[in-house]
Amino acid sequence: MRLTLAQLDQKYIWHPFTQMRDWLRREPIVIVEGAGALLRDARGNEYLDANSSIWTNLHGHNHPKINAAIRSQLKKIAHSSALGLASEPASRLAEKLARAAGRIPAGVGPAGKSGQPNVPKLQRVFFSDDGSTAMEAALKMAHQFALRTRGPANPRFLSLDAAYHGDTIGAASLGHIDLFHKSFAGLLFKSDTVMSPYCYRCPFNRAKPERADARDYRKCNWECVGKIEEKFAKQSKKGNPYAAFVFEPIIQGAAGMIAQPSGWLFRASQIARSHGAQLIADEVMTAFGRTGFGTSTPRPPTASPSSWFACHRENVEPDFLALAKGLTGGYLPMAATLATGEVFDAFLGEYEDFKTFFHGHSYTANQLGAAAALASLEILDSGPCRAARRILEQTLAQELKSLWAAPEVGDIRQEGLIAGVELVKNWKTRQPFDLRERAGIRVCEAMARRGVLTRPVGNVIVLMPPYCTTVPQLKQASAALLAAIGELRK
Ligand code: PMP
Repeated sequence: MRLTLAQLDQKYIWHPFTQMRDWLRREPIVIVEGAGALLRDARGNEYLDANSSIWTNLHGHNHPKINAAIRSQLKKIAHSSALGLASEPASRLAEKLARAAGRIPAGVGPAGKSGQPNVPKLQRVFFSDDGSTAMEAALKMAHQFALRTRGPANPRFLSLDAAYHGDTIGAASLGHIDLFHKSFAGLLFKSDTVMSPYCYRCPFNRAKPERADARDYRKCNWECVGKIEEKFAKQSKKGNPYAAFVFEPIIQGAAGMIAQPSGWLFRASQIARSHGAQLIADEVMTAFGRTGFGTSTPRPPTASPSSWFACHRENVEPDFLALAKGLTGGYLPMAATLATGEVFDAFLGEYEDFKTFFHGHSYTANQLGAAAALASLEILDSGPCRAARRILEQTLAQELKSLWAAPEVGDIRQEGLIAGVELVKNWKTRQPFDLRERAGIRVCEAMARRGVLTRPVGNVIVLMPPYCTTVPQLKQASAALLAAIGELRK
């Protein structure tokens, strides 16, 4: 007897971040087609892809321009190695990324002084396959750079509480989510952690809970920034200042969509710079317009609202910029680590000096991936796409307001086209749901029954629609979410 696709999956596949015992209990949704913001399963059901296929998709599925770019590349060649060979799409893509990354008028850059005109410094593009490898490459480059420029002291890295930067050993070592990382502790190297600006659950926020984004009503004296200063000062005092400060700009995704108050990143980056640390920006989730134009959360006036990158919204130019997920518009696995000319130069020498960056992957700079990325970026910069994103960002802000009707909603955090809705047992006390109650999972299951697919991060429901999502579709997503939260009361 021939097995169905669902049965084949259940018999042979081991899914990521999935308790397989639960998985085997019920028939999985088997996706067979996609068009725009919609996915269709093997049974003919349609779903809204409300988390853009785990935060990767930008312009929707089956986009005619990206499809055409891949087809046209396919007629030439799918892949050739970047170890020893160059290619057209990768060269063009690298130029495009480096130019865009350098588009910042003023701010905290490698030149070090805030408010000074910045010379664009992110000049080199190292291609790899996914977010983890983009971060792994940044980490290894920064580690080597520190050893070469500072001497043999073990380079130390500082990242944020609840940080997630990927699952390879180096990237995971920069992470601080016990649930994901603790069981691998024996394999990981030690990195330090400092508090995230999680206003809703901040011990320094003296404000009582309100029906609003906690960033807007918080009462504090930026103690979180003080903690960063303390941490850097303490490490510098030991005679081995931090080699690098690692962060997701504007909003920390897998940490639970922890959105940073305006000005936090600028301040934190200035402190890091003043202690000689490099900045490693993980924009695996936030890049390519995801954090919007600032209509939902205004940022400092000199910020660059049309930039693709979240860092620029706070006038920060990092030394390393890790990109993945949306790079190919969510079509193919491809990633990039951008590095400064200064870092690049530290790896130059005669062959026999062995200063080479000894790191790389077989599919690095894949030609099909690069062709898809070029098409995706062209769409991203087009007038219609910009206009649609602006409208969608405002509609999302409007729709999110309706969710306050549910008493289980404790905080709603939006940055552009990313939203996190934190569910709580009691909004008046901020009492959280115990993870064992699976509130987030139950809400997402109830949304799926209403034709809307997303995944929770613990008790935080994520809405991250593709940019082609229509206004009625977005309204459908928020209505489904509100109704699904209501089911928690049953
Ligand atoms: N960094 C961030 C900020 C991410 O959100 C993720 C993935 N969720 C990663 C790194 C790892 O990316 P990947 O899953 O593509 O390895």
